[in-house]
Amino acid sequence: MILTRLQCPHCGEPFEPVDDRRVFVCDGCRQSFSPSPSVEGAVPSTELVALERAVVRPQRPLPAEGKIVLLPVWFVPIRWDALNVTVGAWPTEVRLPALGLARTQLLIKFASHLTRARGAWETLPTSRLTHAPAELAMEDAFAVSELVVFASVEGWPRDEQADRVEVPLGPPRLLDLPCQLDGLRLTDLVFGRSQHFEAGDSLRDQREEMALSLNEIMS
Ligand SMILES: [Zn+2]
Repeated sequence: MILTRLQCPHCGEPFEPVDDRRVFVCDGCRQSFSPSPSVEGAVPSTELVALERAVVRPQRPLPAEGKIVLLPVWFVPIRWDALNVTVGAWPTEVRLPALGLARTQLLIKFASHLTRARGAWETLPTSRLTHAPAELAMEDAFAVSELVVFASVEGWPRDEQADRVEVPLGPPRLLDLPCQLDGLRLTDLVFGRSQHFEAGDSLRDQREEMALSLNEIMS
């Protein structure tokens, strides 16, 4: 896909043209856009549609140390009911970071870790928080999500079945997961998972905005 003269439909800010990029975050207004699915080849700005995006509510107070960052994450529901199997302890969604992990194996490891974490989540009802840029395309999110399911689910499908079994995935949502970044250690404030994360420099500190936003919601 070749992108030409791409600009934000909301504020007019020009976008960096990036081949095969399926999510654009505007540097001006920080809204997210996606090319409308029917478009092939060059994408005029009028064909970009706003991507619904929200921040997941932190489940614990903001830690005093470290940067507070927003990690863009694809939340991809797994429709086990479509397979007519007993779900048991299998994950009901894949949580796939959409940023900063060029190597697929690292991405799968990160996502498997995050996917296995138990716990319900909800998004913040109102928020002035701005979003972090997201790099992983929706199509790639689907493909990698299947690999994460195979890595996360024990007992089924067996390796020899993996080629033939299609994991029934629902429509994904791109959400922003608040995290504490302490050096190279990233700890999310929703599921409490902590892991090594080398791409922390690409995320800017949003502690002040986060604190302000939470205060507004609580008051
Ligand atoms: Zn904009």
